[in-house]
Amino acid sequence: MKDASRRTRGYHPEDRAVSPLPSVLFAASECAPFAKSGGLGDVVGALPIALRERGHDVRVVLPRYGFIDTRGMRRHEAPLGVPLGASEAWCAVYETTLPGSDVPLYLIEHDALFARPYLYDPVGGWSHDNFARFTCLSRASLQLCKYLGFIPDVVHVHDWPTALVPVLLNTVEASGPLAATATVLTVHNLAYQPHFAAAELDLAGVGWGVFQEQGLADQGAINPLKGGLWHATMLTTVSPRYADEVRTPAMGAGLDHVLRYRGADLVGILNGIDERVWDPRADPHLPARFDAADLSGKTVCKRALQDDLGLAPEPLTPIVGIIARLAEQKGIDLVLACLDRLLALDLQLAVLGAGDPALERELLAAAATYPGRVGVRIGFDERVAHRIEAGADMFLMPSRFEPCGLNQMYSQRYGTLPIVHAVGGLDDTVEDFDPARGTGTGFKFHPATADTVLAAVDRACEVWSERPLVWRAMQRRAMTTPFGWDRAAERYDEVYRWALERRRWW
Ligand code: ADP
Repeated sequence: MKDASRRTRGYHPEDRAVSPLPSVLFAASECAPFAKSGGLGDVVGALPIALRERGHDVRVVLPRYGFIDTRGMRRHEAPLGVPLGASEAWCAVYETTLPGSDVPLYLIEHDALFARPYLYDPVGGWSHDNFARFTCLSRASLQLCKYLGFIPDVVHVHDWPTALVPVLLNTVEASGPLAATATVLTVHNLAYQPHFAAAELDLAGVGWGVFQEQGLADQGAINPLKGGLWHATMLTTVSPRYADEVRTPAMGAGLDHVLRYRGADLVGILNGIDERVWDPRADPHLPARFDAADLSGKTVCKRALQDDLGLAPEPLTPIVGIIARLAEQKGIDLVLACLDRLLALDLQLAVLGAGDPALERELLAAAATYPGRVGVRIGFDERVAHRIEAGADMFLMPSRFEPCGLNQMYSQRYGTLPIVHAVGGLDDTVEDFDPARGTGTGFKFHPATADTVLAAVDRACEVWSERPLVWRAMQRRAMTTPFGWDRAAERYDEVYRWALERRRWW
């Protein structure tokens, strides 16, 4: 039996019978369906529910952005005082639950900081107070715990917006009720690393002791993600392959040395997909439903997609779908670079995306040049995303890097075979076509260039048209591959326990 005086609050293996499952607060800037710009939002909207199903006391905290409707939510009477620099930000707290679950979601309302029509930056511009905004969120998350009397075993934070939480727990909260709370920082995308002027540090109240190389300092500026990577008890990435990649100079986005140093605390856990939302048997966005045993509904979806995007109503022409944030990472420029040669393969392209204005313009120009062959929808549109996943035959992801990627898993679930650059989570989740055995769940290529994209799409089209029975078998294999959150939740439970062990002796 360990010396009781050394015991701190939190999970203790010997207490298993009393406290079998770590309690967790998710502190995040996104949570589907309330606020989402990408995969981070999907994860925070689904993983807490999977953990709850395992029995964890899990709760989520999110800013109340301007577009979140709080009607019908409970408003806590007392305002929450959040220290911010020399003053305090007074926040209102709204409470609701994640849809279809009893997982509490708390929304932090501060009109001056959060009541905006965007998450991070306005379209085509920059938000100049993001350090204050997300410092407020990070501190509010911890203030909220104390206010609620909910002392979580673990605070699980996500990317740079809440990466300050581990630093706060090691500094301003180092004594007091949250002293033994461990942190897990999940890296969804290492590429997003805003830097802030050092002069802003006083806003966070963490003291200048943490503004150092093994902390928040990065070339004279504040890098919250770097601080989080040094201070979090455990680190995770959203796929095992990405956990390896981020330790290399080529893919470590300037932080590979930190990730190598902390390599023993870094675990790659593949994201799951929310099977209640992405299920071709019950998807309310589709004109017809289907499953692995009966794909006839997919033909109806294909025709509807062609109508939606102004594509020629040709059942015998394969449709290649693309849904992406239009950012350099996603490699859409590679598709545009080989567009003429791609269309010479006699296929249709169905594209949904928003982001880089230059890419948006080029895609719209491609649709104008190839009417009926290239269908483009610019914007963020959940319904169209579901209809592309269901109606397309193939799904193209030429990402230069991809921490996990969700669309390749959604597309497999919908019998739409993915064609992917073999990196990160794409490599972990797609089984390459084996021509000899006729097996696989998609098509991989490497490296990512216009020529390799073209060759891979050509390979897929050939199987689609020349080997329909093999294609059917691949569809069935893809559709029945398990991608649910239950397995990931089990792994996170394990990581939370390791984090608690470590925090106990910290
Ligand atoms: P990332 O997080 O890098 O954007 P992921 O593949 O992990 O990439 O997750 C992207 C998520 O955002 C998926 O759920 C995808 O369907 C969705 N998405 C991306 N762009 C759009 C869009 N324009 N409209 C609707 N959903 C989109």
